[in-house]
Amino acid sequence: MGTIIKVTSPDERAAEVVFEEFRDWEEKLSHFKKGSPISRLNRRGKVRTDPEVLGLIKRSLEVSFLSSGTFDITLGPIIDIWKKAIKNKRLPKSKEIDNARKLIGWENIYIDENKGLIKFTKRGMKIDLGAIAKGFALDMAVARLRKEGITSALINAGGDIYCLGTKYGRRWKVGLRHPRRNREITKVYPLSDKAIVTSGDYEQYFTIEGKRFSHIIDPRTGYPADSGICSVTVIAEEATIADALATAIFVLGEKKGLELAKKFNIKEVRISKDCF
Ligand code: FAD
Ligand code: MG
Repeated sequence: MGTIIKVTSPDERAAEVVFEEFRDWEEKLSHFKKGSPISRLNRRGKVRTDPEVLGLIKRSLEVSFLSSGTFDITLGPIIDIWKKAIKNKRLPKSKEIDNARKLIGWENIYIDENKGLIKFTKRGMKIDLGAIAKGFALDMAVARLRKEGITSALINAGGDIYCLGTKYGRRWKVGLRHPRRNREITKVYPLSDKAIVTSGDYEQYFTIEGKRFSHIIDPRTGYPADSGICSVTVIAEEATIADALATAIFVLGEKKGLELAKKFNIKEVRISKDCF
């Protein structure tokens, strides 16, 4: 999934269980893998798939609905344009963005649960689960650990973290890094059976024509998010929701972002605007 996954556990089976789950879900959810149901959907505009993949798409649409479309898995065509821009080190033409925006919209995904069918209602649409699939794989890995009777582990999947059980009876401690001052820890959370997910502009970003851009796109404009936030951390029961919300809040900005978190009954959100 384009990242490093680190597992800490007193049970020596834990790491292999986690890696196996991540490998399996990457095969299913990655649009970088030609044979995945997501790639097939992107090529053909429809796909029949299993209830888990369908369920993840449904949850993505739920977050889209509640976040006024600031979280949107149909951003594929726009993300392609920005990838090209990064490669060529040149900002895309506004016409290109306008054209791609015609293909964006979570409302244009149709699901038939009985048939296990996902369909696009517009030709040329593409989905990208980059903002939610890591969280989902993490939840699935934690469920597998529990099933195997493994009750203590800390998993860090590139900023998507889950704290399972305790570390020898004490809660796991997760430190948040300052988004600009690399070595500075701004807050430490003691956590047990919780997900803690951060979306920031400091691990993944790009610079074109001297300006720094986030890899998170604002679906309302087609341009990288520019809400004044440089880091969002969400603590939740589930990593899937924490992952999606961290991305949506990054786009929405502080006020509306916190309103969104409330809708999901999230008690802890930390936003940093210390971007200089
Ligand atoms: P998040 O904020 O959680 O997500 C940002 C990502 O979501 C963006 O990179 C974009 O893809 C998408 N996005 C941007 N804006 C929005 C928005 N408003 N709403 C919804 N989605 C948005 N990287 C590789 O280099 N090679 C690979 O082969 C590869 N395979 C992957 C397979 C899977 C299943 C996953 C989940 C990721 C993979 N990645 C791969 C990494 C991926 O391209 C992203 O870099 C990564 O998911 C970003 O996660 P994040 O936690 O940094 O940011
Ligand atoms: Mg995310």
